[in-house]
Amino acid sequence: MNRRDVTTDVLVIGAGAAGMYAAAEARRQGARVILLDKSMVGRGGATIMAQMTVAAAVGHAEDDSWQLHYADTLESGRGLNNEQLSALMCQDGPPRILESWERGVNWAQNGDKLDQVKAPGHSRKRCCYVGALQTGTGVVRGLKKELRRQEVESHDTTVVTDLIQDDQGAVVGAAALEVKEGVQVAFWAPSVILACGGLTELYARNSASVNMTGDAYALALGVQADLVDMEMVQFFPIANLAPRTIGLDPIMWDPFRYRLGGKLLNGEGEEFIERYAGVADEGTYTATRDVVTYGILKEVEEGRGSPAGGAWLDFTDLTREEIRDAFPAAYDRLLEQGIDVSERAVEVAPTAHYTIGGVRVDIDMRTNVPGLFAAGEAVGGQHGANRLSGNALTEAFVFGARAGEAAGGYAVKTVGGTPEPDATASAAMDEALATIAGVRGRNHDSDVFLPALRSRLKDIMWRNVGPFRDQDRLEVAREQIAEVREEFETRARVDQREAFNLEWQEWFELRGMLDVADLVRTAALARTDSRGAHQRDDFPQEDERLLANTVTRRTPEGSLDVRWEDVVTLDADPASWTPPPIDTDPRERTPR
Ligand SMILES: Cc1cc2nc3c(=O)[nH]c(=O)nc-3n(C[C@H](O)[C@H](O)[C@H](O)COP(=O)(O)OP(=O)(O)OC[C@H]3O[C@@H](n4cnc5c(N)ncnc54)[C@H](O)[C@@H]3O)c2cc1C
Repeated sequence: MNRRDVTTDVLVIGAGAAGMYAAAEARRQGARVILLDKSMVGRGGATIMAQMTVAAAVGHAEDDSWQLHYADTLESGRGLNNEQLSALMCQDGPPRILESWERGVNWAQNGDKLDQVKAPGHSRKRCCYVGALQTGTGVVRGLKKELRRQEVESHDTTVVTDLIQDDQGAVVGAAALEVKEGVQVAFWAPSVILACGGLTELYARNSASVNMTGDAYALALGVQADLVDMEMVQFFPIANLAPRTIGLDPIMWDPFRYRLGGKLLNGEGEEFIERYAGVADEGTYTATRDVVTYGILKEVEEGRGSPAGGAWLDFTDLTREEIRDAFPAAYDRLLEQGIDVSERAVEVAPTAHYTIGGVRVDIDMRTNVPGLFAAGEAVGGQHGANRLSGNALTEAFVFGARAGEAAGGYAVKTVGGTPEPDATASAAMDEALATIAGVRGRNHDSDVFLPALRSRLKDIMWRNVGPFRDQDRLEVAREQIAEVREEFETRARVDQREAFNLEWQEWFELRGMLDVADLVRTAALARTDSRGAHQRDDFPQEDERLLANTVTRRTPEGSLDVRWEDVVTLDADPASWTPPPIDTDPRERTPR
């Protein structure tokens, strides 16, 4: 076996905005830090793809306060927000944005103030941005400067496959495959931060990168960490459907609508959102994402979709000049591809965009497993049942900083450095690295290819665990996921090459995706009402008795256990980690 052992104080898994922020902050605590990514630092996940805005009540464009931001966030969350996490996100958003500005993120300015715009669901102009559709790249550039200043050690093309626990159950390291050279790496660290982003690559239609395979959740399951509201996957309503565009963000129609309005029409040319939102849209784009997603898919289902199976987005009431003035770069790139949006409407449709549920943490980003922290999209609870536009990057900054501070402090002050691994941890690491070694060349003469299995799984998820769900579809998904798993375990082909063997990495990704598909499906089956991003055709109403969070954990025997927990209110004791009793029949809960 080609093995390497590496020791540090804080190991950060995933180098998007959350991971980068966490790594820099942990260094400030005096900790040795390693930041690793299965792709390249700052390039692998959703952060670099985010083109629009970051919400923070800085109050530069109009009077604002974190309390107003918090109120908007709770309203959008439909009663499921972990109020402590939501408050933290809104309270710490402004200082993090101002700090990132000082550290090199080139936020758009209006004079000597930040320029801020209003995005759907926000009651104030509070969304900051970088240039025209350049927020993600601006954020990455700024945070990378800070990593260099803090001299953070980073490792690219390194995929973590398992977390390692000692005999007390504490996470003390992670097993990884370094793909470039085909090395199995044992990382030892008293603090490990999961910042691996979301799971949207589990869906056939998604807006994200191929790296977003839900690894944070699979790794958390492996060490019996709690996951909250995993049924909540956000589907972005107006992703580009037709005509096809090249080199443009599929969800760029969002900023077009903030700035220009535009009309969302069904196949019969009618504005239809009023039917679902209760109030007329009239080109103002005020309905939240869950409502618009639901509305478009219902129109399609009822035979009133656009030709390609979505809705029309129409800017033809505007002149070329008006559109070009607002978005010169995007407008010109569309024109080069023969698409003039002042002349013709485009077709849009929902796509999997963001993971609302996630690893359950407290306000210091600690999970229920000692030594394990989480940050960014990997975390759940703060958005309730629906995420407001712009709140995801805020959460990545705020939770990343918090996780870095807490994990750095835990490693340096509480544990006091990297202890020698005990026998339990050593054996677990040996086993995890042996599994990595054993996968290379597995079934190498088989004709069952990993990409084919992956796309089968993604289709199953889109059709059965997607924007619309019901018991039958969720049961079908159970059987079909099991069939894919069976083929994966017995026949999936892995190339024999040692260096740059992507199939070697993809095997671990698919193993995790299958676990996470089961996780989302199980939580979706448990929540028998429709709320925000989770829509059940067989339970179309919100049920007040289900104003609670689903919390899922893998049992030591390997099954998934879903329990109900009261939402965490602002006045709840943040240090309390005693799980309430398992509520087997949530319908008998006393309404609060
Ligand atoms: C197209 C698009 C546009 C968006 N626009 C906006 C916007 O305008 N405003 C907003 O607020 N939000 C937006 N979002 C959401 C937001 O970008 C993300 O929620 C946020 O960037 C997540 O940051 P993160 O650091 O948690 O994860 P990511 O940036 O996704 O980073 C996770 C990293 O973890 C790595 N990784 C995963 N698994 C492993 C593993 N096993 N081992 C090692 N590394 C691993 C990945 O390679 C990746 O680099 C957008 C999302 C998309 C997809």
